[in-house]
Amino acid sequence: MDGLISEPLTPVAQKAPGHWLIGTVTSIKQETPRVKTFRIELPMWMPHLPGQHYDVRLTAPDGYRAQRSYSIASSPIDEGEIELTIDRLEDGEVSPYFHNVLVEGDQVEVRGPFASYFVWRGEKPVLLVGGGSGVVPLMAILRHRRRTMPDLLMRLVYSVRNAEDVIYSDELGDDAVLTFTREPPEGWSGHRGRIDDGLIAEAGIDDGIAFVCGSNGFVEAASELLLEAGYDPRQIRTERFGPTG
Ligand SMILES: Cc1cc2nc3c(=O)[nH]c(=O)nc-3n(C[C@H](O)[C@H](O)[C@H](O)COP(=O)(O)OP(=O)(O)OC[C@H]3O[C@@H](n4cnc5c(N)ncnc54)[C@H](O)[C@@H]3O)c2cc1C
Repeated sequence: MDGLISEPLTPVAQKAPGHWLIGTVTSIKQETPRVKTFRIELPMWMPHLPGQHYDVRLTAPDGYRAQRSYSIASSPIDEGEIELTIDRLEDGEVSPYFHNVLVEGDQVEVRGPFASYFVWRGEKPVLLVGGGSGVVPLMAILRHRRRTMPDLLMRLVYSVRNAEDVIYSDELGDDAVLTFTREPPEGWSGHRGRIDDGLIAEAGIDDGIAFVCGSNGFVEAASELLLEAGYDPRQIRTERFGPTG
């Protein structure tokens, strides 16, 4: 496999993630009924590798703190800012704060970028397999490839529950294959149900590097399918977002 490192990808490998920074929310986009994207301007921005994440820290007036990780959705070409796409969990501590409290112009404490394993450094071909909000770091990879190496072979396999839950729907084209586990859009003739060997085969990339992201259960199932499809285990990189299956 070629190690294809393009110009914008190199600097981050040489720097350590910084200290906590105060970022400013410059825009908020409602992606789906449960998901919003927050564009955050950073005073000391550092280029990231697609796949990396930031930590976010909230501090209550009594000093209580909650910290969570959120993948970067944007390409490192977007200098000075990052985008985080956050799924609202009703009984959560941090994600409802982003959804219900934060408005444009607010400040938020962040630190990053982190992770050296779940990152794309230009290898090819690439299969991206995402479940629900697990598509976020995969979209950073897809966006970066579109802007720097549009001819590089990359496909996204994306599993969502319902038609209304498709994040980044206006950006998904021929390079994405979707499946709906519950309610597909009206007239949908594509795949339904959980990802399976047929869907992996439909993506048409049977070797190369694979990035799998989603809930624990999704990542387990998808990785198993990739192994059965003949993927080298050393070429399957996984990121798990939460405790549920
Ligand atoms: C490296 C990394 C990157 C991540 N990137 C993203 C991202 O891009 N977008 C995003 O929305 N989330 C992402 N997450 C998940 C995120 O860090 C939080 O776990 C999530 O937002 C829940 O935090 P909370 O404070 O709202 O809920 P919590 O108060 O932590 O949890 C509330 C309830 O939800 C359950 N729960 C916690 N996390 C999840 C989950 N992910 N799915 C289902 N149930 C859960 C808990 O068990 C608990 O019952 C990422 C996690 C990791 C480790």
